[in-house]
Amino acid sequence: MTLTEKLLARASGKSAVSAGDNIWVKTDTLMTHDVCGPGTIGVFKREFGADAKVWDAERVVIIPDHYIFTADSKSNRNVDILREFVREQGIKYFYDVIDDPNGTWVFDATKSSLERQYGSNYAGVCHTALPQKGHTRPGEVLFGTDSHTCMAGAFNQFATGIGNTDAGFVLGTGKLLIKVPETMHFRLIGALQPGVMAKDIILHIIGEIGFDGATYRAMQFDGEGASNLSMDDRMTIANMAIEAGGKNGIFEFDEKTREFVDHRCRMNGTRTDYEPVEKDSDEKFVYDSIVDLSKLEPTVACHPDPGNRKLAREMRDLKLDRAYIGSCTGGKTSDFLDFARVIKGRTVKIDTFGVPATPEIVQDLKTEKWDDQSVWDILVNAGVKLTENAGCAACLGGPVDTFGRMNTPMKCISATNRNFPGRMGHKESQVFLASPMTVAASALTGYVTDPRDVL
Ligand code: SF4
Repeated sequence: MTLTEKLLARASGKSAVSAGDNIWVKTDTLMTHDVCGPGTIGVFKREFGADAKVWDAERVVIIPDHYIFTADSKSNRNVDILREFVREQGIKYFYDVIDDPNGTWVFDATKSSLERQYGSNYAGVCHTALPQKGHTRPGEVLFGTDSHTCMAGAFNQFATGIGNTDAGFVLGTGKLLIKVPETMHFRLIGALQPGVMAKDIILHIIGEIGFDGATYRAMQFDGEGASNLSMDDRMTIANMAIEAGGKNGIFEFDEKTREFVDHRCRMNGTRTDYEPVEKDSDEKFVYDSIVDLSKLEPTVACHPDPGNRKLAREMRDLKLDRAYIGSCTGGKTSDFLDFARVIKGRTVKIDTFGVPATPEIVQDLKTEKWDDQSVWDILVNAGVKLTENAGCAACLGGPVDTFGRMNTPMKCISATNRNFPGRMGHKESQVFLASPMTVAASALTGYVTDPRDVL
C-alpha cells in the first residue's frame, strides 16, 4: 500500500484498502474557520438537532482567519457565531480574534490597516496555525473546511478539504465516508540551486501534470530530495496539491517531522502520541515520476491557472503593477526571510504588500536582526507595506476593504497559491504565482524577474 492507503486502512479499522474502495474513516481532527464554520454549524444543528453535542469537543479546532480585518459587518458576525458555538459546546481549541469570550468582534476601520487589531489567542491562517499550535500529528486524519487543508500532509498525515455538509456530519459523528484515492508518486532527487525554492518545485510539478492532473488523487512526495527539504518547504509543496486537483499531498515521516511535531505539541500542551505510516516495498502508483531538483529554475504560474507554467527568465518583459507576499503557502517565517534576503538594502519599485500568515511570524520578523536591524524594519524601509494583521488578507480577495486586495484590473506577482480569475479581487486582474524570492526580485524591478539576476 502507498502512504495514503496505509493511513486510510488504519483509520477505517481495516488491514488493507485499495484505491477506489469506499470506506468510513475515523477523524482525528476537524478544523473549520470563519467562512465555512457558520455554514457547518448550521448543517450540524439541522441534521443532529438544536441541542446536539459535537462528537468530541477536544478534536474540533476553530480558527478564524479569512475575512477578519474588514469593516464588513457580516464577516465580523461570522466570528461571533463561532464564539457562541464554542461556548455552547465547550470546544477546547478556539483561536479567537478577541480575548473576551462573551464579547463581539468589531474591526476598527479608523486605525491604520498596518496596526495589530487582535487579542492574545488569535492564531492567523488556519493551515499555518494548525502545526504551530500542535494540531498536526503523523499518521492521523485531518479534515478541514478549506481546500488547502492538504498542507498538513507535510506531517505524514491524511489531510484534506471537505465541504460544509460533510463537516457538519463529522461534527456529529467523528466519521466520514470517503473513496480511497489513487496515488501519484513524485520522487524528488538532487538539491535546489541558489535562488530556487520549494514553491518552484510544486509550480514545476503542477505545470507538468496540469491544474486538474491529480484530480481526486493522492500526491506522494518522497526520495532524498524530499528528506533534505525543511518542514516549511514540505508544507509549501503539500499545500498546493489541491492546485493540481489532488485529494491530498503526503510526505514520509522522519526526524525533522518528529522534532517539529514533538516540539509544537509539548509547547502547546496538545496530544503527543502518534503513529506515523512508513513506506511499503509494494506500493502501486497510478503515475510515477522523478523530479531532479538541481535542474529546476525559478518558475511562474501565469494567469489564469496554477498549471500555466513558464520560467521567470522567459517573462522579463511582463510589466507588473503589484507584488504580494503572504498566505499559508508563502507567508511563513522562512518565506519572509528569503524574500528579505533579496530586498535588503534596496527599494521596491511597485506597490508591494506583505501579510505574515500568523502573529508568531510577525514576532519572528520583528525579533530577527540582521546588522542590528529587524527583518521587519528592513522590509518596511525598502517600501514594503507590511501589516501586523496576520491572516488570509487578499489571498482570496475578500471584502473591498481587505488589505492588499486588487480593486481594479492589474497585474500582480504573488507568493500565494491560486490564480484563477478574480481570486485576489477584481475579476479582470491577473495573478502570477511565484516563489517569495521571485516576488521580491520582481518587486525591485517592476517586471517579472528571475531572482538569480539580482542576488
Ligand atoms: S491564506 Fe489563502 S489559501 Fe491559505 S487558507 Fe487563507 S485564503 Fe486559503
